[in-house]
Amino acid sequence: MFKFIILGLFVFSHAHAFIIADKNYRLSKPEDTTFKISSEGCTAAGISDAVLKSAMEKTAEIWNDAPESRLKIKVGGKSGTSVNSTTIPKGEVIVGCLDLNDAGIGGTTQQDKANGSARIKMNSGVYSGTQLYGFEGVLTHEFGHAVGLTHSKDPASVMTYESNGWVNPKFLAQDDVDGVVYLYPNEDKELGGLLASCNSYSADGSTPSSGFGLDFIIGFLAIFGIWKLIRKFLKFRLS
Ligand SMILES: [Zn+2]
Repeated sequence: MFKFIILGLFVFSHAHAFIIADKNYRLSKPEDTTFKISSEGCTAAGISDAVLKSAMEKTAEIWNDAPESRLKIKVGGKSGTSVNSTTIPKGEVIVGCLDLNDAGIGGTTQQDKANGSARIKMNSGVYSGTQLYGFEGVLTHEFGHAVGLTHSKDPASVMTYESNGWVNPKFLAQDDVDGVVYLYPNEDKELGGLLASCNSYSADGSTPSSGFGLDFIIGFLAIFGIWKLIRKFLKFRLS
């Protein structure tokens, strides 16, 4: 029996590399968050609203690609809020450009914990209308901070702090998806209990990604534990 408990703990302790920025911070409207251009935008850096918006759309598309999560970002127009404001309206993440006076920083994000919103400052000391190399990738990374994640040690993650080969990521790594699903699980999905959840693979027509899901393993361990208990009980009764 003990060895199955150990095995169960091993399954649960399967390490995720994503790290939550702050346990008290979440986007206040994860299913309806609008990514907006701050009142100043990036025009001072020579980046037009149209160019900025297209990078924002790429970012939203990437972060929306976690179907098990209820996080849904849409790109809106201009916000009346300055990127220097410490209060960002609920349901908004805003972005603007200003000189961060550090050529080593592409961008920085501050969360407004009270409103569950955030502001992203892109460094106009690094990016401009004529130098946009890596802008999209950094914006995608910064948005991860707005979502509530901090740096991951998974080198495939868009939240990594290491050089990992990509300049502008095209999609989230599994680690980023895990982080988003952890922060904003899709609450529409009914949890049918340990064993019933095994049925959901066929019931909703979806295909399991590969191998056995965690639900299956936990379910299996639970059945095995119960079976062991029954046997022990029967032995006790018979002896
Ligand atoms: Zn970062």
